[in-house]
Amino acid sequence: MTALHGAEINEAVSRVVNEGWYLQGKENERFETDYSKYIGTKYTIGCANGLDALIWIFRAYIEMGVMQPGDEVIVPANTFIATILAITENGLKPVLVEPRLNTLEIDEDKIEEVITPKTKAIAIVHLYGRNAYTEKIGALCKKYNLKLVEDNAQAHGCKHYDGRRTGSIGDAAGHSFYPGKNLGALGDGGAVTTNDPELAAAIRALANYGSQKKYVFKYAGRNSRLDEIQAAVLDVKLKYLDEDNAHRKEVAHYYYEHINNPLVTLPDLLPDDQNVYHLFPIFVGKGKRDALHDYLEQNGVGTVIHYPIPPHKQECYKEMNHISLPVTEQIAKEELSLPIGPAITMEEAATVVDFLNQYK
Ligand SMILES: *Cc1c(COP(=O)(O)O)cnc(C)c1O
Repeated sequence: MTALHGAEINEAVSRVVNEGWYLQGKENERFETDYSKYIGTKYTIGCANGLDALIWIFRAYIEMGVMQPGDEVIVPANTFIATILAITENGLKPVLVEPRLNTLEIDEDKIEEVITPKTKAIAIVHLYGRNAYTEKIGALCKKYNLKLVEDNAQAHGCKHYDGRRTGSIGDAAGHSFYPGKNLGALGDGGAVTTNDPELAAAIRALANYGSQKKYVFKYAGRNSRLDEIQAAVLDVKLKYLDEDNAHRKEVAHYYYEHINNPLVTLPDLLPDDQNVYHLFPIFVGKGKRDALHDYLEQNGVGTVIHYPIPPHKQECYKEMNHISLPVTEQIAKEELSLPIGPAITMEEAATVVDFLNQYK
């Protein structure tokens, strides 16, 4: 991965090493300023990883008295487990809502029926790089006075059709800079973006032992900081994010135009910049997903399932194991993610399609 923009990344790392200042310095300041400008929020608060970013948002709302343990948070059932972990870690209750099969994002028509007096927030996840926000979700948040929290871990650079970037639409957003994400560090990293100064101050403190002033502790926080080397690397990679995403889009459009295997269904093609193609999910019918995965692997094409076991069927959430969520479970049975990324060549994409279309 360092091969892309490698020289500039090496230079950034060397600069930090030569200066010998590794935490809470000007690299974080610069990246936070640049990322806020890019996403379109007043504040970015760097933290240790994407899971922590989401944990801090809910924890800060609890500290601010906006929520309390036992309250409910509406969340898509089809997501990476971290979204749900951030809710349960804070003693909040995840209320799972099915996605739509054609968009893969939370079904806006199934939200209102699960809102109760205990509901305090809707968490949307821009999963696979697809914009999950809809006007209806925004209207529900207004109507019921709910916080809108975005999980933007897979969607750096994605936009709503009105031009706002995901990560700037809700009250707060969690971002992950895990190396494989569209904006990836050389290790773990994360951030919260928000326009709320009180929330920003609480999160900044929580991620630094709970301290706003040296040796004075307002909250029982943790050490969850973004280090200077990662911030410096991210600031370099941020400059190339749109270019990298444009390449992903080119590959994705090639897939959309050329995949014609009748066993395979593709999710709706989103217009403009509403998809940054973190992943390229396809659906394989007739129970042949695993066989197709193996066939592609034998032909040198690596594919991954996102995700084979949905959160409500995981051992860690025994209390949810009985719930039936047919759309989410169908996605888990049929989804396969084709290779996509800033480094894949169009020739490689063509090879993927050739093997895929030959499969019976
Ligand atoms: C990667 C990811 C996270 C967690 O980010 P980490 O940096 O790995 O902790 C959260 N939510 C989603 C949807 C993710 O894909």
